[in-house]
Amino acid sequence: MNRAVQDVISLPMDEFLELTSDAVVSLDHKMNIAVFNSAAERLFEYTSEEVMGKPLDLLLPEESRAAHPRKIEGFRAEAETARPMSLRSTISTISKTGRKLTLCISIHRHSVGSAHHFTALCRDLSTNIEISKVLEYSEARLARAQAIAILGNWEWNITTGELAWTNEIYNIFGLRPQEFEATYEAFLKTIHPDDRQRVSNAVNDTVENDTPYSIVHRIICPDGKEKVVQELGEVLRDEDGRPLRMDGIVQDITKDWQTREALVQATRKARKADEAKSMFLASMSHELRTPLNAILGFAQILRADIRNPLSAEQVEHCDYIIEGGDHLLKLVNRTLDLAKIDAGQLDLSLDEVHANEVVEDCVAMTTPLGRSRQISVIDEFSYGPSVNLHTDHLRFNQIMVNLIANGIKYNKDQGSVTIAGHRTGDGFLHLSVTDTGIGIAEEDRAEMFQMFHRIKLTDQPAVEGSGIGLATTKILVENLSGRIGFESEVGTGSTFWIELPLVSNEQTITRETTSDHTTDPG
Ligand code: ADP
Repeated sequence: MNRAVQDVISLPMDEFLELTSDAVVSLDHKMNIAVFNSAAERLFEYTSEEVMGKPLDLLLPEESRAAHPRKIEGFRAEAETARPMSLRSTISTISKTGRKLTLCISIHRHSVGSAHHFTALCRDLSTNIEISKVLEYSEARLARAQAIAILGNWEWNITTGELAWTNEIYNIFGLRPQEFEATYEAFLKTIHPDDRQRVSNAVNDTVENDTPYSIVHRIICPDGKEKVVQELGEVLRDEDGRPLRMDGIVQDITKDWQTREALVQATRKARKADEAKSMFLASMSHELRTPLNAILGFAQILRADIRNPLSAEQVEHCDYIIEGGDHLLKLVNRTLDLAKIDAGQLDLSLDEVHANEVVEDCVAMTTPLGRSRQISVIDEFSYGPSVNLHTDHLRFNQIMVNLIANGIKYNKDQGSVTIAGHRTGDGFLHLSVTDTGIGIAEEDRAEMFQMFHRIKLTDQPAVEGSGIGLATTKILVENLSGRIGFESEVGTGSTFWIELPLVSNEQTITRETTSDHTTDPG
């Protein structure tokens, strides 16, 4: 016997009982408590004075008191005198304050004459049980989260080749743990043959070069079903950089993939349909313009033929043809513009453009539109300081005609449209077209530049239009690197404005100004 053991053995029994962290409870032959150490006091919350000589029932919950004498009797009859902890399952006890305790115990029987005494060493398992319950709960939560996300995690021991999958991976792959070999090779076999090499290359690349493992591939389940999964993973290495393990996740993204694929197909289809529509519009507009020009040309020849003069009625009919034809030609031209914009084929020819001249032309062109309703077009710009723009002459003209014509169309009888302009501090010409018309209600403003948007006029006579003028104008202005906007007040009128870039180092050409800036409505 070595010295340390001798020291312990020579320890007085009282001190020995205080040394152990297990609770020690001894029962005399009457099954009353005879020993109750400090650990027992802490565990059962009684002082030893309180329990000494009291029956063991004090420490047992109500429901197990009746069965207890039978169990003691059984042990008394057994050949063994001691039963170690590992042979007994747990027992339930109760503390002074009513706390239920689950204990693991060793029991020793010792006889004094014919009387049997029992000593129990008790270890509290309640905390362990709580911990394992928490662990079980969090594992169940993790499994549930994985099932919801259809996502599992795996571990591949690169040294042994073993693979560990969570339950959800088995679910994704449609396999059962007992029928899967759980090796890297077995995993490769589950992959769609067309993707296998790619996956194997990606894994090798990650192991050899630490390239992030991120791959989408197909798998074939045992029932033949094809699924799409996404995998992410990384390699764990030892101190010398040798690969030890690869950890990763796999997620079933079949549904997302199918939705994405359907979306790609739908977008492709829509794009094709859009291209077809643009081509159709462009060719139709072209086909319509040729005969229309012929109709207009011949109507004008008929009307102007002095050798065969027409009757007054025939002149009137000719004018109808020309007016209707002109209207149709404008519509066709606008449609052709739209088709070009849609197809991204808007040809711009940027040049130095004298803004005053263009505005003057536009005013002259649009003024007749307002005559019948006595709407005057007031040009406060053309005869002011000369301004040169870096822009497309034709498109600038088209923009201004659209805005002035709208100012006339959506005006009140005897109203006015005023064109004004000034240079901005940042190199633009700001041109405004202000009308005294019906104005635009707050709720209609957001969609003013939407294609085909027209405001429903309830208490106004209907105004002819197609709803493409403003949308086209905005696209043109933006293509000319300009800006567009408007302010409006219902019942008072609107101001539509554009800003187009000035030529750099713009030189002003001085022009004679006249005092009359107003084009008389006639
Ligand atoms: P259209 O005049 O052919 O309908 P536009 O695109 O030029 O097409 O204009 C779209 C709509 O915006 C018009 O139908 C009209 O309701 C409104 N609008 C345009 N200009 C004005 C304006 N100056 N005042 C009031 N409403 C306007």
